[in-house]
Amino acid sequence: MSLTERKTLLVTGGSRNIGAATCLMAAKKGWRVAVNYTANEEAANSIVAAIVAAGGDAFAIRGDIGSEAEILAMFKAVDERFGRLDGLVNNAGVVDQKARVDEMSVERLERMMRINVVGTILCAREAIRRMSTRHGGKGGAIVNVSSVAAELGSAGEYVDYAASKGAVDSFTIGLAREVAEEGVRVNGVRPGTIDTEIHASGGQPDRAGRVAPAIPMKRPGKAEEIAGAILWLLSDEASYATGTIVTVSGGR
Ligand code: NAP
Repeated sequence: MSLTERKTLLVTGGSRNIGAATCLMAAKKGWRVAVNYTANEEAANSIVAAIVAAGGDAFAIRGDIGSEAEILAMFKAVDERFGRLDGLVNNAGVVDQKARVDEMSVERLERMMRINVVGTILCAREAIRRMSTRHGGKGGAIVNVSSVAAELGSAGEYVDYAASKGAVDSFTIGLAREVAEEGVRVNGVRPGTIDTEIHASGGQPDRAGRVAPAIPMKRPGKAEEIAGAILWLLSDEASYATGTIVTVSGGR
């Protein structure tokens, strides 16, 4: 298959952990991959280097998912580099410091919703504009990374984060139905507690280990275990799945 015939995928927050595992697994399955990051250029470059070393095609693209201008520039860069878009993984997401709702500032809430919800919707919008047959596209697949927090609520920790993921789930269902006849499938993955750096970014570096006893499998998940579900939903094997949210949580 020539390079231009190979399917292309954009993974937001592809530089580290769940996003990085998704980029690596996608490349192994033959996707050309755009690896988005916002701050950690070195991490993004190392994922690109690993893909290229294994004979794949990838490039790193900086862009803050909390900014519409940067999202537009990112999609333009993907257009210029790949000339087509077949898949989007809306993976970039943030938590914040542990807090009760009665302690939360409007700045915190706006940042959380801007990145996790508005950013996800804007990236999906750009993908639909390129992939939907209504817009002359060839179809494609979108996977939105949610969280079991959407169901559990994260009381006393980050209810705002849980609410942002609840919004992502509703968006997944609605968008899936909106574009179901236009060749685009939209699904979600709800990870449980996964051993990544997101917990340290929220001031709780030991969180995954601490939560483990409450997980039926008694261990946190690995980034690759989430990537596997994402790649299935992107693949033709999931051709009849849309509006589905797959929970991958060790039974939690
Ligand atoms: P992580 O270790 O904190 O990595 C976050 C990734 O997102 C990095 O690649 C980071 O880029 C990127 N990112 C952060 N803010 C961004 C922004 N504004 N614009 C663009 N990229 C941005 O996170 P993770 O644990 O892999 O989580 C990935 C997704 O899974 C998130 O949506 C998260 O909510 C969800 N999730 C995680 C868990 C868990 O237990 N880990 C559980 C449920 C759901 P840089 O490298 O440039 O910083």
